Amino acid sequence: MSTPKSSSPLAANPPSWLGVMGGGQLGRMFAQAAQSMGYQVAVLEPARDCPAGQVAQRLVQAGYSDAAGLDALAAQCVAVTTEFENVPADSLSRLGQQVFVAPDAHGVSVAQDRIAEKRFFVGCAAKSGVLPAPHKVISSETDIASVGDELLPGILKTVRMGYDGKGQVRVRSREELHAAFHAMGQVTCLLEKMLPLAYEVSVLTVRGADGQSVVYPIAENVHRDGILFTTTVPGPNITAECAAKAQAAARAIVAELGYVGVLCIEFFVLADGSLVVNEMAPRPHNSGHYTIDACVTSQFAQQVRAMARLPLGEVRQHSPAVMLNILGDIWFEGDSEQPREPAWDRILGLPGACLHLYGKDDPRRGRKMGHLTFIAATLEEAQDQLHAACLILGIAP
Ligand code: ATP
Ligand code: MG
Repeated sequence: MSTPKSSSPLAANPPSWLGVMGGGQLGRMFAQAAQSMGYQVAVLEPARDCPAGQVAQRLVQAGYSDAAGLDALAAQCVAVTTEFENVPADSLSRLGQQVFVAPDAHGVSVAQDRIAEKRFFVGCAAKSGVLPAPHKVISSETDIASVGDELLPGILKTVRMGYDGKGQVRVRSREELHAAFHAMGQVTCLLEKMLPLAYEVSVLTVRGADGQSVVYPIAENVHRDGILFTTTVPGPNITAECAAKAQAAARAIVAELGYVGVLCIEFFVLADGSLVVNEMAPRPHNSGHYTIDACVTSQFAQQVRAMARLPLGEVRQHSPAVMLNILGDIWFEGDSEQPREPAWDRILGLPGACLHLYGKDDPRRGRKMGHLTFIAATLEEAQDQLHAACLILGIAP
């Protein structure tokens, strides 16, 4: 294999091909942004029918580690990105030998492993000004025996493959910790102290290949049953001081990682206003979907610009916005097993409703089917539309 192409300074102009690892909704919205700029998009994904495959010009139907599939993607594209953080880092390394890959294997491998991620956050705390929650690696009975009382109650999280609150158990005592560790099959986990959260925010950051970075306004997130429920921007609780601190931390983190592309960093805000860094996603993020309708440049368009080594776009938000995730639950009335289409006609009667559906034809409870962003002249009006939509869709507001 030849030397990595990542140092090549040439911008990739339309109509060249851009590649994306993964066929989910993030890949779909990435493809739509790339295509609107005149690029052609190839998606690598094992499933034949997938949200991104439905819109891309080419689907390379292959496993995420399939050498022939990866080489086919690299042969077609001038740059490749990823839409999910559990893409094998080795696959990104292989692609990186052939084409420009952003983000690269290093950034993704740190973000996909909670131990590496915590270690990284601790290592750059002097620059970022933020620390993660107190934590301890749990891989044996001995580790459980040596857990200090100050870490309980806590949350036991699997080190890899956790998302939407999956792979997490809340434990109040050493006995519950023991039981949870066994219930998870004794895989290596991370125990985190349960912190008293006042609210949660995320900071969407983009760093270009030239090292310049931009940071979006801070988004305030509400989760329900472990899944993101709403994102509100500007967040009603966020103070100017908190926003400035979070944005400075994000800039330091993305630079320290030597990262190129969109990186979303989640923070906890505690009652005393202090910030704790939770985790980062090496890709566009659900809490950044509002940027499609409410900002000059969407997070997906930024990913295109970063990987194509073009100037990053302006992040200015032109309208207050509330994003509501649409889960499969709303296709089912009461306990009915028979899905029916939600009343989109009534939803689209709301003046600032922007509907995004991901082309998934089998609604299931808890499955992300799409999202709605409400934009308005004031945040209050956007929130009123959110409440009206919840009533229409049968969601408790
Ligand atoms: P997602 O994919 O939705 O981002 P995840 O499965 O990767 O989630 P986390 O973000 O680590 O997991 O945790 C999910 C949620 O659990 C957080 O948004 C927060 O509400 C809560 N949580 C996680 N860690 C802690 C903690 N140490 N103290 C208090 N609450 C926590
Ligand atoms: Mg999270």
